[in-house]
Amino acid sequence: MDMYLVNALTEALHNAQKLGGSALAMRDTDQLILVIAQSNKQLQTAEQVLALHKKELATVHQELADARQTIQQLEIASTNREGYTLVEIASGVLAYRWLAQTAARGSHKESKAAPEFFCQHCMDCGLKSALQHLKAEAGGTPFYHCPICKKEFPANLSVTRRRLAGHSA
Ligand SMILES: [Zn+2]
Repeated sequence: MDMYLVNALTEALHNAQKLGGSALAMRDTDQLILVIAQSNKQLQTAEQVLALHKKELATVHQELADARQTIQQLEIASTNREGYTLVEIASGVLAYRWLAQTAARGSHKESKAAPEFFCQHCMDCGLKSALQHLKAEAGGTPFYHCPICKKEFPANLSVTRRRLAGHSA
């Protein structure tokens, strides 16, 4: 609740109490009815302020829940990315590569069956998606296809696959 709401609520309750206090000493019924009406109006104001506060509180609760969900997704994405490094598979196109495979590259330990690259977009969303290397139709360039987000990336293997500093997990 912000200070404006706190002040409005305090003032309304204070006024209602003051009016009620002065009404106790009154003998004139007409005046008493008037004071009761004024007092009720102040209580109505207090209720309106509280209703506003409730709405604000609900918004804050929703924002908190959204933030928690985002953090959870980031934690999942971070866990999924452990052991992977970001590499450039074509000019300006990034993908994740399993670190163990990067280390084994060129040696007899490298597994031909293991997927080579993983979709950066999907990994960042917490989904592990191995890119499929697809051969293009006659004359076209081969490309990578993500089975989850359905994005396609050029498979320009002449581009140096450089590890990006600061992105190795
Ligand atoms: Zn994807």
